[in-house]
This record gives sequence, C-alpha cells and structure tokens, in this order.
Amino acid sequence: MPTTARTLDCHHFIDGKFIPSLNGKTFDNINPATEEVLGTVSEGGAPEIDLAVKAARRALYGPWKKMNANDRIAVIRRIGDLILQRKEELAELESLDTGKPLWLSNSIDIPRSAYNFHFFSDYIRTITTEATQMDDVALNYAIRKPVGVVGLINPWNLPLLLLTWKLAPALAAGNTVVMKPAELTPLTATSLAEICRDAGLPDGVLNLVHGFGPDSAGAALVEHPDVNAISFTGETTTGKIIMASAAKSLKRLSYELGGKNPNVIFADANLDEVIETTMKSSFINQGEVCLCGSRIYVERPAYEAFMEKFVAKTKELVVGDPFKEKTKVGALISQEHYERVTGYIKLAVEEGGTIVNGGKRPDGLERGYFLEPTIITGLSRECRVVKEEIFGPVVTVIPFDTEEEVLDQVNDTHYGLSASVWTNDLRRAHRVAAEIEAGIVWVNTWFLRDLRTPFGGMKQSGIGREGGVHSFEFYSELKNVCIKL
Ligand code: NDP
Repeated sequence: MPTTARTLDCHHFIDGKFIPSLNGKTFDNINPATEEVLGTVSEGGAPEIDLAVKAARRALYGPWKKMNANDRIAVIRRIGDLILQRKEELAELESLDTGKPLWLSNSIDIPRSAYNFHFFSDYIRTITTEATQMDDVALNYAIRKPVGVVGLINPWNLPLLLLTWKLAPALAAGNTVVMKPAELTPLTATSLAEICRDAGLPDGVLNLVHGFGPDSAGAALVEHPDVNAISFTGETTTGKIIMASAAKSLKRLSYELGGKNPNVIFADANLDEVIETTMKSSFINQGEVCLCGSRIYVERPAYEAFMEKFVAKTKELVVGDPFKEKTKVGALISQEHYERVTGYIKLAVEEGGTIVNGGKRPDGLERGYFLEPTIITGLSRECRVVKEEIFGPVVTVIPFDTEEEVLDQVNDTHYGLSASVWTNDLRRAHRVAAEIEAGIVWVNTWFLRDLRTPFGGMKQSGIGREGGVHSFEFYSELKNVCIKL
C-alpha cells in the first residue's frame, strides 16, 4: 500500500504560489489500478496560461537573468538532490497516477529524473562557442542566449522523467518555463514545482498549469504570442495540431512523437539475450513507452525457437497491483486507452491474426485497466495493427527470410523513432543500422541511453534532437557578434 502523506489534490503553480483556477474549475484524477478518485486537479485555460507566461517573462528579465551562472547551476543541481531525497514518495505518486509497478518508478522514473538535473547542470559548463577571424578585417564570435519563455507539454507515460528531460536543459540555458503535464498524470509535476521552489528557484522561473484536453491549457500555451518555443512530447496527431497553431506566432518547435518501432532479430543472435531484452522492449511500463519494439521481425530459422521461449516467458509475467513486489505489468493509464488498446486486439483478429498469448483482462482482476501481455502472429505488413501505434502491451511477430526483405518491411511506415537489431555479424549490424529509417538504432540492446547522445525521431516521429549539446541547440539562441578590427 502507498504511504504518501501528501494531499493528492493538484493546483497550478504560478509565480511561486500554488493557486486554483480563476473560475474554480477542477477535474478528477483517477487511479488506473483501482478506478478510484485520487483527488481533484485545477483545470486551467487561457487566463491561467496568461498569468504564467507573464510571470515567466518577468522572471526571465529579472531574478533569473541577474543570478550568476554558478548560482543558477547550483539551484538546478539542488533540484536533482531534492528529487533523490523525496525518491520514495515520488515513486509512490508516480505509480498511483500511472498504474506502473512501484519497482519501475523506483528504479527508472525517479532516479533518471534526478539525473536529468545533475547531468544538464554539469553539461552546461562544457558548452563553448566558436570564434571566426576574417583576416585582419574582423573578428566574429558566437554567444548563446536563452530562447525566452519556453512551453513544455508532456504525455502521461513517463511523467516526471520526460518533464525533467526538458526542464533541466531549458533552465540550464537560462530560459523560464511554463509546463503543462498530461491531464492523466498531474501528481509528480505538482511535486516538482514544490521541489523547484524549495531548491531556491526564483518565483516565476518555473510555472505549472494543469489542463484537461485539447481546448484547455495546452492549446492556450501554444497559442500564446509571448511564448517563444514549445517542446512537445506526445502523439503525432497532436503534434500536427500544435504545429498549425504555433505557426501563427512562428514558435520554435521540438517534437518527440509516436513510434511503431521494429525489433529485428537475425538467426545468429544470442537467443537468451534476445529474449531477456525483448521481454522489456515489449512489455515494460505496460508497453506504454514510445521506444517499445512493438513490431518484432524474426529470421525464419530462429522463429520457432524464439516464439517458444518468448511465449513461455510472457506467461510468467505477473499482471496486477502496481504496489505488489512481484508485479511486472501494471494497469493501463485510463479507460479510454484500455478501450483503444483492446480495440486493436479485436481488429487483429478481424485482420486474420492469431492471438498466441493474452488479449484479455487477467482472471481475478475485476477493477483497474489491466490487460494480459499480448502476442499476435499471422498479420502482414498491410494490416493496421502492424502499421499503427497501439501504445500498450501488444506486439506482433512476423518471420522474414532476407535482410533486404526485412528492411523493406521495417521502413514501410510513417514513423521513424527507434529500432533494435540483433545479430553477431559485425558487417550486417552496421549495414542494417545505417539503412533503418529511425532516429535511434540499438544493436544487441534496447533503451541504453547516454544523455550526451542525440535523441529524437525521423519522419513523423519527431522534429529535432534533444540530449547533450542538441538540447542546448534548441533551448538557446546562437548569436554572432562581428567586430570590425
Ligand atoms: P497526447 O498527444 O494526447 O498528449 C500529450 C500532451 O499534449 C498532453 O499534455 C495533452 O494535454 C497535450 N495536448 C493535447 N491536445 C493539445 C493541443 N491541441 N494543444 C496543446 N497541447 C495539447 O499524447 P499522450 O499523452 O496520449 O501520450 C502518448 C503519446 O506520446 C504516444 O504517441 C507516444 O508515442 C508519445 N511519446 C513519445 C515520446 C518520444 O520521445 N518520442 C516519449 C513518450 C511518449 P491533455 O492531457 O490535457 O490532453
């Protein structure tokens, strides 16, 4: 059972104060594992966004700009320290809100959130800019300035981890921020605001506005004329709406969007390693990770052995209460998402597929959005279930015969976020990694991340890259100064 003592009602955090919506409107926050109401959330819209943007603009030219770089870096580092100090409480909140197993919040979501602040507060010190001399005529040098007021819009699957992935570099680059978490996961975002205040972040540097759906805070943030940039992580369809709306004030955009990522397994790969990692890339976080490898392609000589072990291991996964230690797969995020995911399972059958494991609510779990990990075979590349992002514990497995054939199938998608390739053939590994149309290709692994490396998607999986220097490319303006000598 969770032990958190914190009230689970959530308010906006604007100019250093927690406040309700001006019209007093709230919505309920539901625990996906029990379907009970956890608390209420203030529902913000254009008026709250306007207050937040004005506070952020004041702080941008005021205390945040005036603070010297060493002090700014120290505050950012302290945010990471305070996250670690409150690690257990934050992990409980994250699991209550998302339905993900507590061990996962404890081992990944929360420590990585703290690390984002530690990493970017260190990394900012390594950033240098170029100087260019034009004979004895002129000297050019570049300096980095903040972009200004930045809007951060986030999804519900890795709430604190993804917010901090944006917030840490945005602050390190000297910006002020208005953040908008997903309506389904307001809890740790609210704690993060508290932590930023306690770490000594001046009022107005970080503002948080909760919203509910497409016509509320998120849309108002994108439309606001005094917001300079938006970093958005979420669905590709939402990204298209945001792009159209942001065009009116020509905002700078960074996009991390959906994926339908391939996991390509050649017969020469070490099958035990393949299985161990494929269990994670298929079902970790209930398959609600943008990087999950939901399209599995197995070279035909290894297909039977792979399926036998993969199905057997999947049957061992315990689905249920996120707060029980043995649980490996928790609850899906919401009733609506549960219906969407199970809708795809029905569609798979209509499209001629075979459900070889799962496909239904586990026995004995009457409440909560629980679904058995699901493996589908017998579908071809034209099927919607193979083409569209499902974002749940559902994978398709398809055998292949040649490298050319699998590459052709793998790249036959509008998405291009990530891929895994499994082989012990060095030349093939490099060849296939280069040919797959994805922003990140892992060879003989999955989700191994070094925060200095570029992260982002090709095609309709994203625009731009974040991570290391790439984050600072987005969160700062590079200005050239030319001095005539
Ligand atoms: P959504 O696109 O539905 O929502 C993301 C955020 O956008 C939410 O905060 C939402 O607010 C807000 N939003 C919705 N409509 C608008 C609008 N018109 N203008 C501005 N903001 C808006 O995504 P999900 O939350 O469903 O997240 C799942 C998706 O995120 C998947 O497609 C997944 O692949 C992707 N994702 C991508 C990652 C990557 O790195 N590429 C990482 C993680 C997830 P509200 O909640 O109030 O509706």
